[in-house]
Amino acid sequence: MRPFAASAAALALSAALVSPAHAAPGGAAKEQIVRVDVPDAPSARRLAGLGLDLAEASGPGWADVVLRSPSDAAALRGAGYTWRVRVADLGADRERDRAYAARTARSPLPSGRTSYRTLRDYESEMAALARRHPSRVRGFTLPERTLEGRRVRGIEIGHHVSARDGRPVFLMVGLHHAREWPSGEMAMEFGYDLLRRDGRDREITRLLDTTRVVLVPVVNPDGFNLSRGGGALEYKRKNCRVVDGKDAPPPLCAKPANEELGVDVNRNYGFGWGGTGSSADRTAGDYHGAGPFSEPESRNIRDLVSSRQVTTLITNHTYGGTILRPYFSKAEGVAPDERAYKALSDAMSAQNGYTGMRSGDDYETTGETNDWSYYATRGLGYTIEFGRKSFHPAFETLVDEYHGTGPTAGKGARGAFLVALRNAADRGAHSVLRGRAPGGATLSITKGFTLWTSPVGARKPRPVPTRLTSSMRVPANGRFVWDVNPSVRPEPPFTPAGQKPVTGLLQEKWTLTCTARGHSSTVRVLVDRGRQAYLDLGRCR
Ligand SMILES: [Zn+2]
Repeated sequence: MRPFAASAAALALSAALVSPAHAAPGGAAKEQIVRVDVPDAPSARRLAGLGLDLAEASGPGWADVVLRSPSDAAALRGAGYTWRVRVADLGADRERDRAYAARTARSPLPSGRTSYRTLRDYESEMAALARRHPSRVRGFTLPERTLEGRRVRGIEIGHHVSARDGRPVFLMVGLHHAREWPSGEMAMEFGYDLLRRDGRDREITRLLDTTRVVLVPVVNPDGFNLSRGGGALEYKRKNCRVVDGKDAPPPLCAKPANEELGVDVNRNYGFGWGGTGSSADRTAGDYHGAGPFSEPESRNIRDLVSSRQVTTLITNHTYGGTILRPYFSKAEGVAPDERAYKALSDAMSAQNGYTGMRSGDDYETTGETNDWSYYATRGLGYTIEFGRKSFHPAFETLVDEYHGTGPTAGKGARGAFLVALRNAADRGAHSVLRGRAPGGATLSITKGFTLWTSPVGARKPRPVPTRLTSSMRVPANGRFVWDVNPSVRPEPPFTPAGQKPVTGLLQEKWTLTCTARGHSSTVRVLVDRGRQAYLDLGRCR
């Protein structure tokens, strides 16, 4: 999900939620999601200025809002808005969850789980999968600790997973936004699914031979842990940045006075950072942070994407029933790879029935994951907004979401993920370096360039130094094949002079270094999407 605006008034209202004195007559205030009528752009802007919790789901003439207390409804009514109630009592979903878990021994999800995972569940399950399947699952830890001092963990799935070969990477991440619980569940369930079907389903077996599936289900563990704990922080969206530039040892982040603080991790990526659809207000739901990549959570994903050949990326969010691709702000112009981008989006939509669109046509933002990853690597990245009703609906609804229902029965999220994974494997959709080099040699490819933020206020755009580097080992027979992203890079629409729409490509090269037995040699390689480059590296000297 994307924004919500907050203000001193919202801060006071949220703080009121923890005080029984403010409970509605006849019991606690029920948190609701309502669909507000917004007939035109001025009324949408006015709504955003009310300091209410705007859900990211919006469409022609409407926008969803979370009403966290009776005073939120009063504020909406006072401003002259009309609405329909979409979810009358968000708390009722937790009652439904308890009943479902009590009556269900094993759900139809690949893991069989019957309730939302806690942070501890994610970590112990990933560790258990790596222990149970040592040749197919490798656990890893991302470089930076969170502001509460946590490690961010992931798993990599593939046959001979520890080999240093040149297979392409399919990356799926979840829980940038703390309250979007299904976004992590979807990544975990896909992992279980692949492992269960491996060896039984011919295509999945082939995909685990030819790709690596990297899952980071919980990008923002501090925020998720607080949200999953329920109570006043159940609808927390952001990370735990209470004071810019400083860590937040517990219990700082959980204090009621800090409830509205934090950085929107999905506005903190460096490309175009600080521009439209992000806020400089530390209490706003879409606060972009003190600088591009100021947050450990976005830096972790940047480092992961920069050090692997991620040919297809999916970042899971909730909710909206949409599949989003660049542009994220209209002034970027249409991406040079729009045809391929749209074709894959359409193929995923055919599986889960979601609406594919350029993200900026829904509403405009800057600093999101996929805008950065595409313009840095040219790998195609999508944001999928799962679900249509709320941030973490009743758990049992994830079964239909994952496996599909009605016209999408047997397809669903699972089908969409497989379509994306197939694209990650498809050599027509990325580039290949192949050739000869000494067996056991290490090959590395690097690229360095500068991306730019948006101009922020009166300040000029800031440089975002970007370096991509990854490596593989040449097999003993001396013949290597390396699936990589194209060296030819999309021309970035954010420039030192500001934002301008571009649709061109930069004829940039990879710098490839071959190192063997203490010698090394370097060549420069130009390779475009769908093309292969043949390299005879001799003895690497
Ligand atoms: Zn989100």
